[in-house]
Amino acid sequence: MSGIVNKDYSFWSLFTKGLRHHEGWEPAWRSPEPQKSYDFVIVGAGGHGLATAYYLAKEHGAKSVVVLEKGYLGGGNTARNTTIVRSNYLWDDAALLYEHALKLWEGLTQDLNFNVMFSQRGVFNLGHTLQDMRDIERRVASNNLNGIDALVLDAREVKERIPLIDTSKRARYPILGASLQPRGGVARHDAVAWGFARGASKYGVDIIENCEVVGMDIADGRIKGLETTRGYIGASRVGCVAAGHSSVLAAMAGIRLPLESHPLQALVSESMKPCLDTVVMSNAVHGYLSQSDKGELVIGAGIDHFNSYAQRGSPHVIEHTAAAIIEMFPMFSRLRMNRQWGGIVDTAPDACPIISKTRVKGLYFNCGWGTGGFKATPGSGHVFAHTLAHDEPHPLNAAFSLDRFWSGHLIDEHGAAGVAH
Ligand SMILES: Cc1cc2nc3c(=O)[nH]c(=O)nc-3n(C[C@H](O)[C@H](O)[C@H](O)COP(=O)(O)OP(=O)(O)OC[C@H]3O[C@@H](n4cnc5c(N)ncnc54)[C@H](O)[C@@H]3O)c2cc1C
Repeated sequence: MSGIVNKDYSFWSLFTKGLRHHEGWEPAWRSPEPQKSYDFVIVGAGGHGLATAYYLAKEHGAKSVVVLEKGYLGGGNTARNTTIVRSNYLWDDAALLYEHALKLWEGLTQDLNFNVMFSQRGVFNLGHTLQDMRDIERRVASNNLNGIDALVLDAREVKERIPLIDTSKRARYPILGASLQPRGGVARHDAVAWGFARGASKYGVDIIENCEVVGMDIADGRIKGLETTRGYIGASRVGCVAAGHSSVLAAMAGIRLPLESHPLQALVSESMKPCLDTVVMSNAVHGYLSQSDKGELVIGAGIDHFNSYAQRGSPHVIEHTAAAIIEMFPMFSRLRMNRQWGGIVDTAPDACPIISKTRVKGLYFNCGWGTGGFKATPGSGHVFAHTLAHDEPHPLNAAFSLDRFWSGHLIDEHGAAGVAH
């Protein structure tokens, strides 16, 4: 997939390009032949990798940066996710990192001069049991202490705001209430990848697609370069941002990451008129959904519990998810599903990311975002760029280093990560 853009946005230019079978468009990002070496090599052209390259060039003045992608730009989890954005995590470290991302989302379209279609339509996390409601109250209180918008609603207030939802007592898991983050919402996943790619390219970053990293050249405990399917590329610093394939890259450096890779699925329905203007998530019935601008329901499922690198689904997960959605919204029982897909997510034992240096000098990892990293895309790129540029973590990602797995300072976000978006 190669991005195209027209620098002349006048009606006449757009019209005449259309008449000429859309020929003459300029590429949105440059795809040159790789140079012999770079100061910074980013492995993985998903949203996080591209954002890292963008902020490295823009905020740290890096002049020699390349992003290597084994497939096509944004073809990993960035283009496979259900695009829920929120920052209402429980613990300070996580909440502040995701809130940093949310603040960047709020200005991202202007910053990139590219419409990422960020829509702050609110995110509901439903509570079905008394324990759910106690957890919600605790999390909302913690969010408010961190200056994050969050409120607790009872079942009547949920019904007022989401008229289609079944809050009656006859439901198998009755809805007792919810937390609401009004500033949460959704964004257009492809646009995020394209916008960061275009922005990075403007600052001189090389973006090389169809270039897989297959080996690492490490000498005297320091990274020297990478073996790729397009030849050897020398590197002073390498940032790996490869989501579900992070362990494969780490193994090339002799590092074992505390990660498991699982398929996570999503599905979309046929289009219908606008009927759901917010995002609804339920950990108990295990489903979450929103309605896209095209009118489709965008539905997220649970992970497949087998470890796998197969980017595909399994019917029992889809069946379970469809049942969960109908439990919450009985009227969707007649809706037909259009398509379904899977992505490989990298889950860490404490449901938190790893943004870290490694024991190999000049080699860094940004991974472990599991089922919920899309929401962090700009923030993750921003702090990882700082980490790479300074060889020191940004204050917001210091707690997310690999050290925590032997020091014991885990940040258990399983409750707020839930299913776990
Ligand atoms: C079905 C599904 C639903 C989800 N829903 C949400 C949600 O609603 N909200 C949310 O916040 N998150 C969600 N997520 C999680 C989110 O998608 C990810 O955490 C996030 O997109 C990860 O971004 P990334 O840029 O790190 O990874 P990716 O977009 O996967 O990018 C990594 C890139 O690295 C490349 N790569 C791998 N190995 C190599 C190599 N050896 N050489 C070169 N390139 C390589 C891959 O091809 C890929 O393009 C969901 C994920 C899935 C699968």
